[in-house]
Amino acid sequence: MPGTDPSDGFVPDAAAVPPIATAGGRLGPAQRAEALRRLATETFDVLVIGGGVTGAGTALDAAARGLSVALVEARDLAAGTSSRSSKLIHGGLRYLEQLNGALVREALRERTLLLETLAPHLVRPVPFLLPLTHHGWERAYIGSGVLLYDTLGQGLARISPAPGTQHSGGLPLHRHLTRKAALREFPALRPDALVGAIQYWDGQVDDARHTMFVARTAARYGAAVVTSAPVVGLLREEDRVTGAVVRDLESPGGAEIRVRARQTIGATGVWTDDLHALLGGARGPVSVRASKGVHLVVPRDRLQGTTGLILRTERSVLFVIPWGTHWIIGTTDTDWELDLAHPAATRADIDYLLDQLNRVLRSPLTRDDIVGVYAGLRPLLAGESEDTAQLSREHAVLAAAPGLTTVAGGKYTTYRVMAEDAVDAAAAGLTRVVPPSCTDKTPLLGADGYQALWNARERLAERAGLHVARIEHLLRRYGTLTEELVDLVVADPSLGAALPGAEAYLAVEALYAVTHEGALRLEDVLTRRTRISFEAADRGLAAAGPVAALVAPVLGWDETRTRAEIDLYEARVAAERASQETPDDATADVARRAAPDARRLPSVRATARPQPTPPVPAEVDLDETVPITGVTVASAATSAAATAAASLRAARRAVVSSISRVSSNGGTGPSHPDGAAPGTMTDLAS
Ligand SMILES: Cc1cc2nc3c(=O)[nH]c(=O)nc-3n(C[C@H](O)[C@H](O)[C@H](O)COP(=O)(O)OP(=O)(O)OC[C@H]3O[C@@H](n4cnc5c(N)ncnc54)[C@H](O)[C@@H]3O)c2cc1C
Repeated sequence: MPGTDPSDGFVPDAAAVPPIATAGGRLGPAQRAEALRRLATETFDVLVIGGGVTGAGTALDAAARGLSVALVEARDLAAGTSSRSSKLIHGGLRYLEQLNGALVREALRERTLLLETLAPHLVRPVPFLLPLTHHGWERAYIGSGVLLYDTLGQGLARISPAPGTQHSGGLPLHRHLTRKAALREFPALRPDALVGAIQYWDGQVDDARHTMFVARTAARYGAAVVTSAPVVGLLREEDRVTGAVVRDLESPGGAEIRVRARQTIGATGVWTDDLHALLGGARGPVSVRASKGVHLVVPRDRLQGTTGLILRTERSVLFVIPWGTHWIIGTTDTDWELDLAHPAATRADIDYLLDQLNRVLRSPLTRDDIVGVYAGLRPLLAGESEDTAQLSREHAVLAAAPGLTTVAGGKYTTYRVMAEDAVDAAAAGLTRVVPPSCTDKTPLLGADGYQALWNARERLAERAGLHVARIEHLLRRYGTLTEELVDLVVADPSLGAALPGAEAYLAVEALYAVTHEGALRLEDVLTRRTRISFEAADRGLAAAGPVAALVAPVLGWDETRTRAEIDLYEARVAAERASQETPDDATADVARRAAPDARRLPSVRATARPQPTPPVPAEVDLDETVPITGVTVASAATSAAATAAASLRAARRAVVSSISRVSSNGGTGPSHPDGAAPGTMTDLAS
């Protein structure tokens, strides 16, 4: 159990004391070189493997407790599932229907924290319309669920909003609508598709940018953050894991570095089984399976509506989510056992989504309306059910081996809780007393002072010589760090120009992505630091050249390398488009693999397959994994017990702490700094 007094028994190890702040959390080529030097020379308290939201959150949690931390990511920050979600910060209304109130309440607490304290610059309110199709009972049934949802969002102590407020955990409260009123909100709906509706509010985030901000904040508190750095082996002393072998994919020969750590935490999402395979045993103590979810992106003017939409489908629900000048429509839910790095959408996936939505539209959408498509893989804990839609969204923290803790499962919204539990478990294996998590009080970079800077946006626009709408766009993506971009524009006004081929973005954003946000490849800038790859109708082809020219000097690319980066990106777009014409996963996977991958993961499962001829059976037999059903216990004690287990065999007996912690937060606080009032679409832009 971590100590509560930071000074209690804390004995600093002089050789391992990291710098407390690394250039304000800047991630650029110089910081990467310095972080690589640290990987080779320091012994870290905690090495985190995987730079998705869980790994970045874990690195931040550990660094904010004063531990020395390294975070290594095989590809790019959020390159896995964490850039491909539905981008909702939510409790999950449908989990209430599954009577999982504790999970919903925990997620709603995180929603409030993110909206109000941790990331008000990145997370914003989004309204959803729930159309009703039956008179009478349905309104009562769904209405009571939404009422409970809002009530939980406020904290259980407050059954109704405080006098004078209409907010629930920072969000407006739900409201009941007649059919006429619902059609005013969403005129694109067919009048006979509903008899009325309920509107409620949730949170929305640009997931890739948020994950990058979490990693930058970890770096701000001293973590050595290195991307393009897959773990290709684990260091062992007898049966104890003492660190990892990391390959630097940006060095000419792929140099390998032995990183020493007192505790290693794996946060590799759908690659969890691959990480466990590095232990050399047949399989890890629990398995993570992948379920593919596909989203379509269409221009905003193709659907007339001022609110998001939720439709019930046979297996799950379909979201239609406002996304700036676009809509995001998703998602599907099917098993995926092919390339984990590049899950491919098929024509069948796309047709399914269009069919589901067209059932309720006056004027159907066609494939020609689609400007972007992306697919992600849900990391689901295996063993509970064969039906992926029913698998638990809870997370597990487990002792994979002495010195190695694994955290997996969960959902984006609850990353901070997962991180806290993982660090609690690892901390139990450290000899020093470790303070408790403080990430609930640690705003991400860009959050502090956001409201004040938002209020000063007109003066900022004047200083930058930009339209105030451009500054609002920057504030919603960079928070108070917007000032750093404005400084760059003041120094070089050409950086204030719109990016050719992606006019919603400014040239300075592409540059800043490589100087401050850790982007190392053209793809990182077009796909995750910006979302040009799915927002631009040409999927970013026109922007690729100008962006490559902007970042080349910073990344040291000559003409040949610059051309090669553009070629790689063009090949990727062509492969994705080809896969989206295929009838099934196997052929889509072949089409997607036709594009070369400069950062292919040295994954046990990926390399075990002949490439590119699918389908190939996975090396890990998911059907034989240890079921984890029913192991729900108090977090700290279980995590500590699991971590203290003397051997992998013992750890497997102790199995898993499938953690479902219940916590409440009654604070409603001020409304969103953007002043995101109900129904104002500009407030929903990401
Ligand atoms: C379609 C879809 C929609 C979703 N929508 C929502 C939503 O709206 N709201 C919500 O709360 N949740 C949502 N989720 C769930 C959420 O996105 C995931 O739970 C979350 O992103 C998982 O993050 P992660 O960090 O655990 O995994 P990942 O983001 O996949 O990160 C794992 C990282 O580990 C790296 N890695 C793997 N092997 C190695 C290695 N050997 N060395 C170094 N690095 C390695 C990978 O490159 C990857 O970046 C959705 C998921 C999907 C698929």
